[in-house]
Amino acid sequence: MALTQNQPVPSTTLSSVTPYRVGVLGFGGLGQAAARVLSQKQEMRWVAAADHKGFAANPNGLDLTSCVATYQAEGSLGYLETDGALSQDSIPALIRSATVDGYFLALPNLPNTFMASVAQQFIESGWRGVLVDAIKRTSAVEQLLAMQKDLAAAGITYMTGCGATPGLLTAAAAIAAQSYAEIHNVKITFGVGIANWEAYRATIREDIGHLPGYTVEMARAMTDAEVEALLDRTDGILTLENMEHADDIMLELAGICDRDRVTVGGVVDTRNPKKPLSTNVQVTGRTFEGKISTHTFTLGDETSMAANVCGPAFGYLKAGMELHRRGIYGIFTAAEVMPKFVR
Ligand code: NAD
Repeated sequence: MALTQNQPVPSTTLSSVTPYRVGVLGFGGLGQAAARVLSQKQEMRWVAAADHKGFAANPNGLDLTSCVATYQAEGSLGYLETDGALSQDSIPALIRSATVDGYFLALPNLPNTFMASVAQQFIESGWRGVLVDAIKRTSAVEQLLAMQKDLAAAGITYMTGCGATPGLLTAAAAIAAQSYAEIHNVKITFGVGIANWEAYRATIREDIGHLPGYTVEMARAMTDAEVEALLDRTDGILTLENMEHADDIMLELAGICDRDRVTVGGVVDTRNPKKPLSTNVQVTGRTFEGKISTHTFTLGDETSMAANVCGPAFGYLKAGMELHRRGIYGIFTAAEVMPKFVR
């Protein structure tokens, strides 16, 4: 049957497109969750991954079970028998050896300049494609925004701040803002529950860097024993207030409100997968009739941090792929582009 312009495209046609070849950099908590998310997708195929000590690639798709088993038993994907290779410089080595349309950067941003240095490596390699990160700090996003011209000249479409917060909740705030003539404040409050901190070492270290009296560098330098001792003192709970979170600069750049009207805080329980509170964003403003009101968008308590980070990251990766195909390069935030849904 021939399709006319106004007919909906049958889903079989939609799903028979060639999948995007996707790489995941970092194979810790988020990287492994990202690979699991991809294993259920038809539009994206997981073909490459790198960790601190090695990488793995297979154009037909990597095998999730053997990748996770090898990483857990030996500490690196580089030990995989057929698809793996050990490397001291795994990211450039992977960029050279795999054909990938887009990468999710599930890497720690430790030090706070690390993600920008990875973006620089992509620019220098001559690779063209789409990058997406779930970076958190305002100062880290600012470093990437300063690379706009170089990314555009390199033919890279870079989607930044595309996890949960910043990411899903920032985008929700941008939509909620539309009811108002003026935005008074945006308040993001997150609850994260994880069974043990070792599953998300970088996330927890970066969160410690937000505690009063700590810096990113101090958190980075802490040994695992020191992190455990800190968590013992707090019963495994980290309470975070007034965090330096890029939701502020993203909403400011999107023209929604000044960054000082955006606040982010939350509670992380490192000993219990149940969320200590419901993650939500509240957007308060004044309507054109002069009424003051608050929209609240609350995530379902059953959704994990991994689901709320990896889902949006791949949604923005798909949006970035569509921009890239149209020749649109440079850097975009989660507050200025709608994520696409990945089937
Ligand atoms: P993790 O510590 O569990 O894993 C990090 C992985 O990166 C490991 O596989 C490690 O080998 C690899 N790695 C480290 N240095 C590397 C290097 N130089 N080259 C290649 N690989 C390297 O990390 P995680 O807890 O999964 O966190 C990843 C990032 O996600 C963190 O920066 C965290 O802040 C961010 N995050 C964002 C959100 C959000 O909502 N935006 C939520 C949670 C986590």
